[in-house]
Amino acid sequence: MSNNLNYQAEDFSRSIAVDDYIAHYRDAERFAACCRGCENYNRSWCCPPFDFDVEQRLRKYENLLLIATVITPVQKGLPFSESRALIRPERIRLDKRLHILEQEHHALAASYVGSCLYCPEGSCTRSSGGECRHPELVRPSLEAYGFDIGRTTKELFGLELLWGRDGLMPERFIMVCGLFHNEKAVKW
Ligand code: SF4
Repeated sequence: MSNNLNYQAEDFSRSIAVDDYIAHYRDAERFAACCRGCENYNRSWCCPPFDFDVEQRLRKYENLLLIATVITPVQKGLPFSESRALIRPERIRLDKRLHILEQEHHALAASYVGSCLYCPEGSCTRSSGGECRHPELVRPSLEAYGFDIGRTTKELFGLELLWGRDGLMPERFIMVCGLFHNEKAVKW
């Protein structure tokens, strides 16, 4: 798939049993510590702390479809500050597809990590004690559930995460999202 404006994007998918993914790729304490250092911690309904037990929620499902989307900016050396705008159309596309699959398969989606797509930046109701405005759309990420995305991309997809340097974007981004389900297989 390609967008002739400013990037190319390609999806890869893998399936894994939920029990195996939790056993080998979840490190709840380590990633909870990372989350506590993030500006969105306890300030967005997408993010920890959660008012439910994560493992109890996820173990209702037998299998997990993982999707890794590789986004390659056409122009090299773009400022990192533009990365949110660059990946936003792909986040919207992935979320739409996940919501369709969630309904078709009585499943549970896990979105790509990042600021919530469904309200203007900085206007989440969580800090002010209000209810989420779009609970039917908001799904926490795999990172927020405590999964190791670096190991996921490396060991399950053969792809290393790259990081920006000197204020510039890396040569590619990898976004990982998923669908917890009870089917034998779900096609992406
Ligand atoms: S939809 Fe709005 S209220 Fe709900 S988590 Fe997102 S930003 Fe917060």
